[in-house]
Amino acid sequence: MKLLTCHADAHRRSLETEVLSCTARGEQHLVELAESVLFPGGGGQPADHGTIGPARVLDAEEDGERVLYVVDRPVAAGRAQVTVDWPRRFDHMQQHTAQHLITSIAAAEFGWQTVAFHLNPERSDIVLSTVPDADGIRRLEARVNAAIREARPVRPRLIDPADMEREGVRSRLLPAGHSGPLRVIEIEGYDLNTCGGTHVSNTAELQAVRFVGLDVQKGTGRLHWLAGGRVLADAREAQARSEALTRLLCRGPAEHVAVAEGLLGEVKDGRRALKALELELAEYLGRALAASEAPTLHRDTADLGVLGAIAKAAAAVRGDRLMLLTAGEPEGVFLLFGPGAGEAGPAVAEVLGGRGGGRGQRYQGKATANQRRAEAAALLG
Ligand SMILES: [Zn+2]
Repeated sequence: MKLLTCHADAHRRSLETEVLSCTARGEQHLVELAESVLFPGGGGQPADHGTIGPARVLDAEEDGERVLYVVDRPVAAGRAQVTVDWPRRFDHMQQHTAQHLITSIAAAEFGWQTVAFHLNPERSDIVLSTVPDADGIRRLEARVNAAIREARPVRPRLIDPADMEREGVRSRLLPAGHSGPLRVIEIEGYDLNTCGGTHVSNTAELQAVRFVGLDVQKGTGRLHWLAGGRVLADAREAQARSEALTRLLCRGPAEHVAVAEGLLGEVKDGRRALKALELELAEYLGRALAASEAPTLHRDTADLGVLGAIAKAAAAVRGDRLMLLTAGEPEGVFLLFGPGAGEAGPAVAEVLGGRGGGRGQRYQGKATANQRRAEAAALLG
């Protein structure tokens, strides 16, 4: 791939250039430019978004040495203004440069090799050849942020592949069929690495790096991180959540966890007490059901456990008849209990728009049409 203006000057946001060609491909169009500030993607960094004249740039593709920008409408040949979606691009520059710095410090000062990295839309990650512990991660984070404060220049330059060893270039893997000088990115005092991406021009532009999680997989540690504007955006979101909790709980952030733990404990106790009351109530409802003329009972809310307890209490008084108990309307559960439940079950389930299972004295299931319970009860004979 030839080097473009975006490689020489990553901070340039727009330029006027020649549209060499524009060809349709389905709904989209492919545009070739004489020069470009739009990074075409590569080295793990996504392609830029932006505009070419009136067209929105969605992606880029390489066709040999040519870069083809994928746009949403045709672009006329001739001069056109090319503009980068700068917030997105600067974010990529921060994430990408942060990756170089983290990888280099992790290797040189901690002996942790990076085996892969991913510049993701939300949290980027590097996969380390080892699994760092929490203290190590904190020390690496402190060290990376110290290097950011040192405001080290970051610059691209070209070197002869024969000089890679002598210069101490970190990545010595060359693209297949590569010839000619290599583009390297130097973070002064820290790193020299072959890379075709776009980067900030000084580590100070990274602002901060924060590690936000570790996944352990087969002896490797996938370390998730945020850099630059994402650290601030994440802090803003955390603050918004914290303020919402403060309003909800009427307590300051320092007490959120304790208050939430207390409330969860109360919910658990409440559920247990409710369950005990439901089962106690089931005794009374069961006796009432046994005394009633119709062998049916409906509750607005109850689960199969409660319906079962009611049915058993009823059967203890009067065990000779088949009963239909339902809960919820139209969707809910149903229970057939008593002699012949297993045989009558499928027909009842069909009327209630449900599916069930069981045999002998008990047949139960989910229903979608409990409002038809009277019709279903007529089948009980
Ligand atoms: Zn890079």
